[in-house]
Amino acid sequence: MNNRVHQGHFARKRFGQNFLNDQYIIDSIVSAIHPQKGEAMVEIGPGLGALTEPVGDRLDAMTVIELDRDLAARLQTHPFLGPKLTIFQQDAMTFNFAELAEQKGQPLRVFGNLPYNISTPLMFHLFSYTGSIRDMHFMLQKEVVNRLVAGPGSKAYGRLSVMAQYYCNIIPVLEVPPESFTPAPKVESAVVRLVPHTTLPNPVEDIRALSRITTEAFGKRRKTLRNSLGHLFSLDVLNELGIDNTLRAENISVAQYCQLANWLTAHPQPQEN
Ligand code: SAM
Repeated sequence: MNNRVHQGHFARKRFGQNFLNDQYIIDSIVSAIHPQKGEAMVEIGPGLGALTEPVGDRLDAMTVIELDRDLAARLQTHPFLGPKLTIFQQDAMTFNFAELAEQKGQPLRVFGNLPYNISTPLMFHLFSYTGSIRDMHFMLQKEVVNRLVAGPGSKAYGRLSVMAQYYCNIIPVLEVPPESFTPAPKVESAVVRLVPHTTLPNPVEDIRALSRITTEAFGKRRKTLRNSLGHLFSLDVLNELGIDNTLRAENISVAQYCQLANWLTAHPQPQEN
């Protein structure tokens, strides 16, 4: 049985609350983040402060975004952290990271032990702000980290890999077992570093085209490209782009997906709704 009470707080499942309890893991994450005074550090989901305390210790000020009103209130009155924190009691999915970076006059360093139930949509939200973010360190399900870093030809390679690698350089940092949390999650976890490219290696004209193509290709990942993308690209076009139409979604590189996206943007489909 999991103990759902940690430091007097009953962990709320709907907020994906699994609190870190392992000092060795906490220290390793903080060293990987390497926070420095003067940097614009932003934590998503500080919870009971397992990472906030050691990071805040090294800084004069930091920003936290916490959806749970009780936890936000607790942090506000925290003896040494409270005065250093700017607390946004709100959903990180609706947070405007560009506005905060503008206020801070520098790109943000974002980190957090993310609520697993929203980690993928939250990363997509953050990808739309990569111009305002210097780096991100996140605790995620290990399986999600595997998908983030996967390359063509591997089973884990999918839409998330392509979209994440389009925006960021991605480095796995550390694996974390379930016992390092209270309550223990059912899955293995891992910490990952995402560093937005300062210059995109494969820029696309319209990100919606890349999003659409990867959704459609990986939605039918067992089919060959001529079947999964045939309604968007004729065999001649695939040929012209040097893409073998007998391959499957998982065999196409990020650069090739970007090439397809740019072709589609330059040749809009008739009667699109
Ligand atoms: N950082 C703490 C730790 O490592 O022990 C807590 C991590 S816990 C996995 C996730 C935290 O994110 C919780 O404090 C939860 O209340 C908060 N949270 C959940 N959904 C959120 C959202 N949409 N926006 C901001 N915070 C959220």
